[in-house]
Amino acid sequence: MFQRIGFYRRCAQLLTLLAIFIIPLLNLYEITFVKGTFYSMDIGDVALADPLAVFQAMFTSRTISLIMLASMVVPVFLVVLFGRVWCSWFCPYYLFTEAVAWGRSRLSVFGIKPFTGRYREGSTSRQNIIRYLVLGVGLLLAGIAGIPLLNLVSAPGIISSQALILVKFRTVSFELVFILFILVLEFFFFKYWCRLFCPTGSFLSLFQGRRGLKVKKIELECRSCHTCIRSCPMQINPMTEGDNPMCHNCGICIDACPDNHKQPTLGFRFR
Ligand code: SF4
Ligand code: SF4
Repeated sequence: MFQRIGFYRRCAQLLTLLAIFIIPLLNLYEITFVKGTFYSMDIGDVALADPLAVFQAMFTSRTISLIMLASMVVPVFLVVLFGRVWCSWFCPYYLFTEAVAWGRSRLSVFGIKPFTGRYREGSTSRQNIIRYLVLGVGLLLAGIAGIPLLNLVSAPGIISSQALILVKFRTVSFELVFILFILVLEFFFFKYWCRLFCPTGSFLSLFQGRRGLKVKKIELECRSCHTCIRSCPMQINPMTEGDNPMCHNCGICIDACPDNHKQPTLGFRFR
């Protein structure tokens, strides 16, 4: 049973998944007010693009394009205002990785104890170092090669372009193997892709400032059961680390808090 925020989040995720199939279908029937994939999309006259894809395109071609920069404005503005809600509310990969995590948790029904990882004080700094390192090395290699290499590992971009290929050409391409590969590894190990490797999510978190929507401990007195910490998929402490760039404002910790049913203990606040 989903709780308050979880219900709305799941609706947003499912609608996004539906959209990546419906958009190319509409385009097939020459309805083109919206077109494209999660690398780059046009809604009417407004162009929206994945900020990492735009940055790579300019970086590898060594040019600055005002049109391309303009396509980053809305996504970046949303991150500045609402944090990395793209990841937990809209990214199609995140829906799949949550399904995989749910499947893994069912293993305990068969007496198998899945490894889920756990929160450790200071571990978020190490995780942030790893993911920014992956992003930096990827950008460096893209610059040297002169091609936007990180698009090859952009899970949301790959999934939406595969949906387009499927609808238009009734087939899928080899890139889908990459998505299946990381999902299979997540099933047998833990949710590692979004936490440690995804360059799209890491690049977006560069725009998360000190202001904007954050998880915050509202009521200082709580029963200190640490349910919120155990529930966090990014393994951060929601009570003290709401402004950590790892937080993608999923709200799972808020729904999980048993004290929140009596009084607001943990909640989203604009800082
Ligand atoms: S980190 Fe990457 S794959 Fe994960 S939810 Fe964000 S954009 Fe999607
Ligand atoms: S702290 Fe809360 S909102 Fe942030 S990622 Fe963890 S569970 Fe989601």
